[in-house]
Amino acid sequence: MRTKSKWSPGPGIKVQSIATNGDGDWVVSACGPSSGICPDCRKQSARRHGWSYRSLQDLPIQGNEVTVRLRLSRWRCSYRQCGRQTFSDPIPDIASPYARRTKRVANIVGLLGHGTGGRPGERLMNQLGMPVSDDTILRHLKRMALQIDDEPPARIIGIDDWSWRKSWRYGTIIVDLERRKVMDILEDRSVASVAQWLKRHPSIEVVSRDRCGLYAQAAREGAPQASQVADRFHLFQNLRLAIEEQMSLSGRATGRALLPDEDIETDHDDRALHEEAPGMRLRNQLRRTHRQSRKEVFETVHALSKEGLTCSEIARRTGYGRRSIAKWLTFETPPDRRRGALQPTSPLYFEAFLTQCWKDGNRRGRHLFHDIKHRGYTGSFSNLERLLATWRRAERPESDKDK
Ligand SMILES: [Zn+2]
Repeated sequence: MRTKSKWSPGPGIKVQSIATNGDGDWVVSACGPSSGICPDCRKQSARRHGWSYRSLQDLPIQGNEVTVRLRLSRWRCSYRQCGRQTFSDPIPDIASPYARRTKRVANIVGLLGHGTGGRPGERLMNQLGMPVSDDTILRHLKRMALQIDDEPPARIIGIDDWSWRKSWRYGTIIVDLERRKVMDILEDRSVASVAQWLKRHPSIEVVSRDRCGLYAQAAREGAPQASQVADRFHLFQNLRLAIEEQMSLSGRATGRALLPDEDIETDHDDRALHEEAPGMRLRNQLRRTHRQSRKEVFETVHALSKEGLTCSEIARRTGYGRRSIAKWLTFETPPDRRRGALQPTSPLYFEAFLTQCWKDGNRRGRHLFHDIKHRGYTGSFSNLERLLATWRRAERPESDKDK
């Protein structure tokens, strides 16, 4: 009896028997309470009018399906002044009206459906011993969405890219940040569609977004009443990129493995250094060291060339690209390629962002072109492709690489 009570599908439900059918599936027979409370007059009644049965799908046992066969009573209200003749046992904790599965199964249907979609959800649910059709999963999701619509309109939302297929096709996801719920997913990521969506939701007060201009522009157009904030994720991402960029600059500044460990000659404006703020000082120092190291690399490259080495050989020894070496050899003096001097017409202006994309496996030229265009790139596609080609070449396996 004690084990039977543990099987109970909910409060007030008594388990009568548990049996397995030929397929190994379980049938739990249960019945409701022995009296009911009229929903109108709140008086208790034990006068039974009749029975009805509900079959509910429940959580599986050892991968086998479980069906709860629940017998519910219909009671007669015995209070004379009450207008209601009969009423049945309510089971709000166990299942929704007309539902064919218990609430705990319905929750899983909702979670899996949300995470995977109709067909994959159907396959997973079958494997887990809770067969549900894909149509049911989608119906369930739509019902959940309707419930969300009943709530007061959203005030604070987050907008970001949503990949339909990574590095291939992107849409837009919009999340209600107060309720932590997805509000909508848009087909594409464009100013027009996001602005249109925002216009349909005039209740929005705060838009949290990334730092690429697209969503900022969309919010300006579609929700001028809302204040825009950069979300924490993207702020941290930007910070990380900035740090990496600085680190890689100082990495280059130390001259990689190529340059000898000489003292870098002091600049003539070294005295001014002591009067600068610490941050400025570090940045200026980096810049100076960087310029210095470029000069040394430049001299090394020219010296190696004078020794009769080919561009490829010099590239291999210095770790720079073959094309850069060829370019450097045409220069009379070391090129000053400070980041600040770069213009948005050059893909190198977006080098940090592109490097990150490259690392993340986002390597399609067209796609990256689209991405940096949104960040303000004004150069051509072929210009970007030239840069990407050197990166691709650098990753090609080299059998005769120097140690
Ligand atoms: Zn009543």
